[in-house]
Amino acid sequence: MPAIRPLPETLISQIAAGEVVDRPASVLKELLENSFDAGATEIGVALSEGGVRQIRVVDNGGGIPMDDLAMAFARHATSKIASLEDLEQVRSLGFRGEALASIASVARVSLASRASGAARAYAIKAEAGTIGAIEPAAQPDGTAVEVGDLYYNTPARRKFLKSEATEFAHCEEAFTRAVLSRPDVVFTLRHNGRMIARHGASDPAKRIEAALGGEFAQSMRAVEANGSALALSGFAGSPAYTRASRDAQFLYVNGRFVRDRLLAHALREAYRDVLHGERHPAYVLFLRIDPRSIDVNVHPAKTEIRFRDPRAVHQFVFHAVAKGLSGTAAEAPAAVATPVATGHSVLPRSSQAALGLAQPVAGYTAMFAERRTSPGSVADTVPDEAPPLGFALAQLHGIYILAQNRHGLVLVDMHAAHERILYEKLKSALDSRTMNTQKLLIPATFHADGLDVATAEEHGSTLNLLGFDVAAISPFALAVRAVPSMLADADVSGLARALLRDIREYGASRVLTERRDELLGTMACHGAVRANRALTIPEMNALLREMEETERSGQCNHGRPTWFQMSLADLDKLFMRGR
Ligand code: ADP
Ligand code: MG
Repeated sequence: MPAIRPLPETLISQIAAGEVVDRPASVLKELLENSFDAGATEIGVALSEGGVRQIRVVDNGGGIPMDDLAMAFARHATSKIASLEDLEQVRSLGFRGEALASIASVARVSLASRASGAARAYAIKAEAGTIGAIEPAAQPDGTAVEVGDLYYNTPARRKFLKSEATEFAHCEEAFTRAVLSRPDVVFTLRHNGRMIARHGASDPAKRIEAALGGEFAQSMRAVEANGSALALSGFAGSPAYTRASRDAQFLYVNGRFVRDRLLAHALREAYRDVLHGERHPAYVLFLRIDPRSIDVNVHPAKTEIRFRDPRAVHQFVFHAVAKGLSGTAAEAPAAVATPVATGHSVLPRSSQAALGLAQPVAGYTAMFAERRTSPGSVADTVPDEAPPLGFALAQLHGIYILAQNRHGLVLVDMHAAHERILYEKLKSALDSRTMNTQKLLIPATFHADGLDVATAEEHGSTLNLLGFDVAAISPFALAVRAVPSMLADADVSGLARALLRDIREYGASRVLTERRDELLGTMACHGAVRANRALTIPEMNALLREMEETERSGQCNHGRPTWFQMSLADLDKLFMRGR
């Protein structure tokens, strides 16, 4: 057994570096945090080869006095805290005094700084744990740090670095996190000499637009809540603006970007009712909390934190975000107004009266009553026992059914009527869990994106409940193998697509509950006879009989009437025929 010996200082740093500096992006993060801690208002970042070849961060912060320069590279040396008491209420981003030492153990670092008020700037180099001599340098107020050839002396680790593009993407993410956290700070980012991003001093909303794009900025809702011990501010993307990944979730605690489970959970809960499970919300939120009630010293990278009162924080964040998201009221009337005007989207069924349309339902009932009480003004042409909607005479332009009943002429919008019937049938079948399905002889296959395929696989039971059997036949294609019997004639793939879209957007549980009527409407619309389909007289009569049996058949799912009665008297008037 070899004797127990202390590890060499450089090796200690290299081991520590594994936790703090695992790739160029984490080096960049540490350097940016140092610039923030130094009070910089302008920060320039220049990278080459994804940051592997070089990372250079220049700031206009307070700088480092000449006497402290060498200490900057010493392990566990920091200017930010001096005691346990300081640690417990730390307000700076750094405090472990570890980053520069770690970086210097796995890369070539040079640092030039001019402390505010100092007459000159000085530079120092560190390489493989060896700190060079302090030399005069040309540098305006502030600090410039250059990190070159990351992992040049630890080839095993260097192998883990990914392509230049990947490493650059991670650096860009670290940059964006910093950019979003401080709208008041001016930033530039260059890669391989090219200017990638430039941000002037701004306000939070404009900074978000500049960093994350206009689409998100237009959808986002302000979140603002102030408690006695904590405050949350920022912006949360509307549920309509969702993303396939968590790439636009920016959460900061006292200015520090965190990936915290508790907070992430509070946010998921806040979005739960309004978001499909596979989509991810976007947000930029800042939690301010008394530093004494959190512990950021959980992990060297400090992206995790511990709250003294996690429940209170969870509650607070959940309510603040839910409230911010509920600021949708202003949009609702506009969203309804469009379908009313075009008459194509789903309307509340009761809105028909509001639209000033005729109300055939009332007329229908009246007609039944009249039929019973006063038999026969035109009894000679139509037998007394004739059904209320009479018998079909013809189809007009592939759109209307003309029928003759006891009162005169009945005009039926065939698609609207059929749709209504299917809707009611589907509804009662779903309610009684008796949706009859029909296996398709030849499955209908269609191209689908990855998310559609995932949705079909994940929500198979919901689809079954609705009478569908949809299976993935490749990562990009789905096959519909069974549909509800009453929709067997429909455009099956169009129907499956519409269904998946709804489940994707609203989540399976909402599709079956609060969105159920809309969904059934979609299914009915797809299944209903299309215009221009020639119907035979028996088919038309069958439709009329079904209408009579169907509740509320007087109006289609969109609230439009499905049929009109023109009495002989109405027709007489048209022809000015005094009778
Ligand atoms: P920490 O940030 O935890 O203190 P670092 O190793 O990152 O540890 O930095 C060590 C020290 O070097 C800091 O405490 C700070 O005094 C000084 N320093 C590093 N970067 C800068 C900078 N950009 N401007 C001013 N001082 C800096
Ligand atoms: Mg630091």
